[in-house]
Amino acid sequence: MEYSARLLRAAPIAAGTLRADMEIADPAFTFEAGQSSLFSFPADFPLADRSRIFSFCSAPGELPSVSIATRLTPGSDFKEALSKAPPGQIFLIGEPSGDFVLPRGKGPKNVVLLAGGIGITPFRSMIRSLRNQKESPFRIFLMTVNRTGEETPFLTECQEWERDGSVEWLPVLTKEGIPPGGSRQERIYEGLARILERAGEGSLLYLAGPPAMVDAFHQSLLGQFLVEEARIKSEMFYGYLSR
Ligand SMILES: Cc1cc2nc3c(=O)[nH]c(=O)nc-3n(C[C@H](O)[C@H](O)[C@H](O)COP(=O)(O)OP(=O)(O)OC[C@H]3O[C@@H](n4cnc5c(N)ncnc54)[C@H](O)[C@@H]3O)c2cc1C
Repeated sequence: MEYSARLLRAAPIAAGTLRADMEIADPAFTFEAGQSSLFSFPADFPLADRSRIFSFCSAPGELPSVSIATRLTPGSDFKEALSKAPPGQIFLIGEPSGDFVLPRGKGPKNVVLLAGGIGITPFRSMIRSLRNQKESPFRIFLMTVNRTGEETPFLTECQEWERDGSVEWLPVLTKEGIPPGGSRQERIYEGLARILERAGEGSLLYLAGPPAMVDAFHQSLLGQFLVEEARIKSEMFYGYLSR
């Protein structure tokens, strides 16, 4: 099943990062925070490769509006077309899928969300969804990894969530303020150590972003922090692999 959506706006939200807001007319459309869909330009759109998978970064409660966000990788004709699409442009959205969602039944209260760059998208959906509830069943620890503050997607929202206590946020910047002799890996290692200490043993760990980043988090959690595999859930943004 495909749903027709109308572009409301597409605008930059961080360096090299675009957010697109769309409206879906069909009231039957639903999704769960953390899920993704295939987004396509219509069949008659002059583009050879018309589709990409994106996680929803808006909460289900915001329907009929949905939002996605993406890094504008140079050379991607799809993203070039998306960034130039005018309001009113029609997109087709496939049936939402994926089990990268928060636990439904009883489970650990503390949840760590590790976002590699644009990997924040499914987490923004989860966090916005939890903020709409009277009482969140989870305590959320969010670690974002970006090269600079300028490149951090949804920076002001992260600051707001931290301020109002919705999440405990740890931003890790891998290019800004690194002392001589320091490295990106060390920064990430220190960040993981701090957030794991805060969240405690038994917390669940969600990892999202380009495969290289998710893989690095995963290896480090298993190898250096001896976290059990069963506590980890990953969403790899395949497609970024090709770069
Ligand atoms: C579950 C899931 C959720 C995702 N969520 C997001 C998100 O929220 N934000 C975001 O920016 N990206 C997300 N991605 C990745 C996204 O689908 C693109 O792959 C990525 O943005 C790179 O696109 P591009 O146009 O720059 O790729 P290009 O470098 O232009 O693509 C190069 C080649 O890779 C192919 N390709 C592109 N995507 C895929 C894919 N997913 N699987 C297999 N081949 C592919 C293309 O057809 C093309 O031939 C997600 C991917 C998955 C699987």
